[in-house]
Amino acid sequence: MRFSDIIGQEELKSHLTDSIDKGRISHAQLFTGIAGAGTLPLAIAYAQYLNCPNRKDGDSCGVCPSCQQIAQSAHPDVHFIYPVNKQGKKSGEVVLSAEFLPQWREIMSQSGGYFTRQEWYDKLDLGKTLQGMISAKEADEIIRRLSFKSFQSQYKVVIIWQAETMNEEAANKILKILEEPWENTVFLLVAERGDLLLKTILSRTQETSVPRLKVEDLVSLSGASEQERRNMARLAAGDVIQMRRMVQGEGDELREECFDLFCRLMRLSYNDKHLELLDWADEVAQLSREQQRQMLTHSARLLREAYMLHAGLGRISYLWGEEAKFCNNFAPFIGNQNIEILISEIESAMRQINQNGNARIVFTHFALAVSKQINRLK
Ligand SMILES: [Zn+2]
Repeated sequence: MRFSDIIGQEELKSHLTDSIDKGRISHAQLFTGIAGAGTLPLAIAYAQYLNCPNRKDGDSCGVCPSCQQIAQSAHPDVHFIYPVNKQGKKSGEVVLSAEFLPQWREIMSQSGGYFTRQEWYDKLDLGKTLQGMISAKEADEIIRRLSFKSFQSQYKVVIIWQAETMNEEAANKILKILEEPWENTVFLLVAERGDLLLKTILSRTQETSVPRLKVEDLVSLSGASEQERRNMARLAAGDVIQMRRMVQGEGDELREECFDLFCRLMRLSYNDKHLELLDWADEVAQLSREQQRQMLTHSARLLREAYMLHAGLGRISYLWGEEAKFCNNFAPFIGNQNIEILISEIESAMRQINQNGNARIVFTHFALAVSKQINRLK
């Protein structure tokens, strides 16, 4: 992975290469941001630049053995740790990242390093409820591997993807390693949410916050007409993964499902149908976490658009088809009095879902809270 393979993030790239050129290489770093902004590709490009003997024009060469091995996730001194699990695991059985390297290489080559945690779990065939995790044994394994003499490169690198999935025991072991740095060894932690990491780990790492991409960066991706890409780029909110889904039409079905759930929630809220709202919450609770997150994201977007319509800013609304029709009808009930509260209810539900809260309780509260807010403008 060269920096030039990464979409956008030009400022960040030159900041990273600059720091390496000047020898300011922190042994513990944390890349935070959404997967679709390129956090993992940036960490890999950083590792590749660090170890490339033929750096040129602010990038690794891409052709030397070190670069090629890193590109194939096959470099003996660049180690990957990521959350794993498997169906039918025996009790007490420990699964480690290394066991799933073939799947890792496959998803890397398919996506160029842009994939969500859920897409990774799907690749591991974890089913609807099983989640991956980074276990404490993984930390032991890393210590074992780091104690070998470095094979060929100047730096050993450990990339921990989705670092927030480390359990407490694992995090404490990693912390111990970070507290007593190993010579010429660099840890690159990649996390969507740094705030879910132990504070002690945060204080030991140097954070690089990876921003969402600019609309122009996403418009430059191929597929669809330029006008369509412009609309999609705004909806994708700086996320390459969302953008790709839209360009490939993959998101259409999911988008329709989310839209249907949103419409029903709004109608039931407006009509004050409490019992049916509870049924709605039950139905949403049955969906996968990823679908629940998508539904909440879509709802936030549609509410914001409806609010813009109400405020007379319809010209800058990015809705089409059924969505435009529904939001136009619904706009009178979304205003200054309730938009912020509605969005904060969505954010709170999202937070609880991300923290594995009980979905039925979360969505029951959510549905009733939305209903209350919609009724304020009736
Ligand atoms: Zn190279």
